[in-house]
Amino acid sequence: MYSYPVKVQRLINEISKMPGIGNKMAERIVLYILKQDKIFIENLSSIINDIKFINICERCFNISEDKLCEICKDDTRDPSIICVVESPLDIINIERTGKFSGFYHILNGLINPLNNILPQNLKIKELVQRIINEKTVKEIILAINHTVEGDTTALYIISAIKEKMSNIKITRIAKGLPTGSDIKYADEITLGQAILERKEI
Ligand SMILES: [Zn+2]
Repeated sequence: MYSYPVKVQRLINEISKMPGIGNKMAERIVLYILKQDKIFIENLSSIINDIKFINICERCFNISEDKLCEICKDDTRDPSIICVVESPLDIINIERTGKFSGFYHILNGLINPLNNILPQNLKIKELVQRIINEKTVKEIILAINHTVEGDTTALYIISAIKEKMSNIKITRIAKGLPTGSDIKYADEITLGQAILERKEI
């Protein structure tokens, strides 16, 4: 049975592992790349190669070119508020709203025992330790989805913080987003409003 040359098949296999891309889509992407000239392919591979120099911010776990990300390096931001999010994509979306000027903390997921994502796999204890170390934090905004996983994670974070500190205000962004919908796909006006209408929990 005919199949693609090994080098082509290898690239299809790698691309098909990416989120939301199945085998058929990977084939289309690779066939598109094959139609481009050699300069395009060289540029693309050098751009991908440069990604290996990207780090994770040691303070908030955002993606970064240095030890600290651009947000953590910005001393004009408000050190009394930390906004807790699931992934770096949420930071981009919240920054676009222009309604938040504090710092962030990325969890790297939400608690989901069915998928083996447990509290210890997330950056929750790092969050608690960071609040203790920084001493400037007065409010934690939980900008995490109103889903079962989001609710479970919120409850866990609240109890982890309250166990160590009683004077931290904890809020959660409003349910302005339709229940079950994702912060990642919210438009900036809805998300900005949800931040402004956050509720203490
Ligand atoms: Zn950072």
